[in-house]
Amino acid sequence: MAKSRFNVGYNASRKQREKAWENSGRTFKPAKRRWESPDELRAMSYPGYLKSQYWRENRYQFLKAASFRCQKCRAKDVELHVHHKTYEHRGCEWMFPKDVIVFCKECHKKEHGQ
Ligand SMILES: [Zn+2]
Ligand SMILES: [Zn+2]
Repeated sequence: MAKSRFNVGYNASRKQREKAWENSGRTFKPAKRRWESPDELRAMSYPGYLKSQYWRENRYQFLKAASFRCQKCRAKDVELHVHHKTYEHRGCEWMFPKDVIVFCKECHKKEHGQ
């Protein structure tokens, strides 16, 4: 079982995950709605996944951690996207923050070769 630096298992319950996140010193308000389980998230279509409670909260945390700036060109006050370098840990990105990077719309386009 993969362990994150927060020392919770890959399939930890939402309660355990929230606790771990709180203990990690990040500001995190427990959701009113529960996070979908990793299995549920993996079974979702990509558009469905983007709308999940889990991803909406995690996306916000990643943007916040990047101080709402593009991590490549440092632009701020622009449209920001959270790009996945890998989908290996879809549903568990909060345990693998290096899997994602915050890009502005332009850097994101370039990253995808458009
Ligand atoms: Zn940029
Ligand atoms: Zn992307």
